[in-house]
Amino acid sequence: MLLSAPFKMRKNVVYLPYTMKRYLPNLNPAPESDYDAAVIGCGVSGVNIARKLSSYKIKTAILEKAADISFGTSKANSGIIHGGFHHNKKYLKARLEIQGNLMFDQLRRELDFPFMRCGIIVAALHEEEMKVVEHLYRQGMENKVIGLELCSRERILELEPKLSYDVIGGLYAPGGGIVEPYRFVFALAESALKNGAHLYTDYDVVSSSYEDGRWTINAADGRTVKSRYVINAAGLYADDLHGFGQEGLKNPDGV
Ligand SMILES: Cc1cc2nc3c(=O)[nH]c(=O)nc-3n(C[C@H](O)[C@H](O)[C@H](O)COP(=O)(O)OP(=O)(O)OC[C@H]3O[C@@H](n4cnc5c(N)ncnc54)[C@H](O)[C@@H]3O)c2cc1C
Repeated sequence: MLLSAPFKMRKNVVYLPYTMKRYLPNLNPAPESDYDAAVIGCGVSGVNIARKLSSYKIKTAILEKAADISFGTSKANSGIIHGGFHHNKKYLKARLEIQGNLMFDQLRRELDFPFMRCGIIVAALHEEEMKVVEHLYRQGMENKVIGLELCSRERILELEPKLSYDVIGGLYAPGGGIVEPYRFVFALAESALKNGAHLYTDYDVVSSSYEDGRWTINAADGRTVKSRYVINAAGLYADDLHGFGQEGLKNPDGV
């Protein structure tokens, strides 16, 4: 992997990954007008979509308003690969949480980013918290989470001896894990660009229009790309984008 090579630790100094600008020819090429798909936003959602699209013969552009990728929420989260017990099984999120979790071993093999399946512990310090833990356990069992354990005080202290002495029990989800979120996004972007996707940074999408089956997507600095489909993955700004211009980015044909 290109980006992992310069990432070294020497004498307790951490060298951050070089920005993709140093390496990749598909970064900020001259804007083109024959993309099949344009993904707006290069956080973890947009870049995953772009990587998947670019693994087919789909000419893909990623448009990111920041100077580099993963500058939105994806740079600053806890990096937890959740264990599948947080949501009721009636929600799509519950199913995707489990499916997504199971994808991480393969993703790590393909992309070589820091990922550890270290397990998740939810500790209860009193009876009220234990009721919540029991609820999460039941929910997780309904979601068919593998290996979920409702733990006694002895078991939870066996798993994590440094927990507070007040702990009365807890939940253990061995499938939970942790990633370095920023490097995860970089690894995905690097893979998408190697597949041929184009990444445009400093590309703040401000307006769009739709004509003859193609979107024209305009950036604040005057650049324009054209694409058959647009994927709005702008995170917290996705709703703003939806309202750009009179028609916004909504396909007037309703497709
Ligand atoms: C404190 C905290 C902790 C979290 N912990 C976890 C966790 O442990 N595990 C977990 O799975 N999730 C966690 N999350 C949630 C997770 O971080 C988000 O769900 C995820 O990062 C969202 O990714 P995204 O790609 O949708 O959005 P973003 O990462 O925000 O990406 C959107 C991108 O769109 C770009 N953009 C916006 N407007 C435009 C425009 N007009 N033109 C071009 N580009 C534009 C932005 O610059 C940004 O790069 C946490 C969130 C927070 C806040």
